[in-house]
Amino acid sequence: MSDCIFCKVAAGEIPAAIVKRGDGMLAFKDINPQAPTHLLIIPTTHVGSLNETKDAKVLGELVGFARDLARETGIAARGYRVVVNTNPDGGQTVFHLHLHLLGGRPMNWPPG
Ligand code: AMP
Ligand code: ZN
Repeated sequence: MSDCIFCKVAAGEIPAAIVKRGDGMLAFKDINPQAPTHLLIIPTTHVGSLNETKDAKVLGELVGFARDLARETGIAARGYRVVVNTNPDGGQTVFHLHLHLLGGRPMNWPPG
């Protein structure tokens, strides 16, 4: 996807603060953080949204990657939130599947 910004991040064509690389996935800092820790976890190959996912194993690996990052960034014990905004009602603005990992402060519920 030549016009997808997260494909460009994955290809190294636009800069990002990459914090961890895995097999077929990548985590980097959100450019507009909503919490002291706000990371994005993406598959390195293009998937538009959660609706387009076909491989449950890859989904499991992405969630496991988020869990590992939570531990490694020191937010696991106090707690954190993993969010997958999907399509317009879900608040998705970048149409390359990504998990938000948010932590470092108490989260509110319900979300906006
Ligand atoms: P969403 O609204 O769930 O699609 O989330 C997209 C997220 O990507 C937002 O939190 C943005 O701040 C973030 N974002 C957009 N462009 C970049 C970028 N170039 N590098 C890092 N984060 C980005
Ligand atoms: Zn993409």
